[in-house]
Amino acid sequence: MAQEWARGFYNSKAWEKCRLAFLQSKFFICERCGGAATIAHHKTRLTPENIHDPNITLNWDNLEALCQDCHNKEHSAKLPVAEGLMFDENGDLVKENRL
Ligand SMILES: [Zn+2]
Ligand SMILES: [Zn+2]
Repeated sequence: MAQEWARGFYNSKAWEKCRLAFLQSKFFICERCGGAATIAHHKTRLTPENIHDPNITLNWDNLEALCQDCHNKEHSAKLPVAEGLMFDENGDLVKENRL
């Protein structure tokens, strides 16, 4: 579920259109595993500071087409700030020691 401050954005027509057009451009294929993409993930995380900045929120360069699985992994594996982080095989920052 989206954070309170992000709810208005995720419910907006602008995002709905952007998300759909982006996923269509990727043929609804997950960019990581080739599965069925249902999510346009923001590479730069949305924050209360950037939520009104279309260069972040609606910029295709900041989006990645992901399936539910890869999206779950993406969000559970990462920390917002760097400490004990490493790059995984995709070049993404992940937590160094997962217990
Ligand atoms: Zn996937
Ligand atoms: Zn995401």
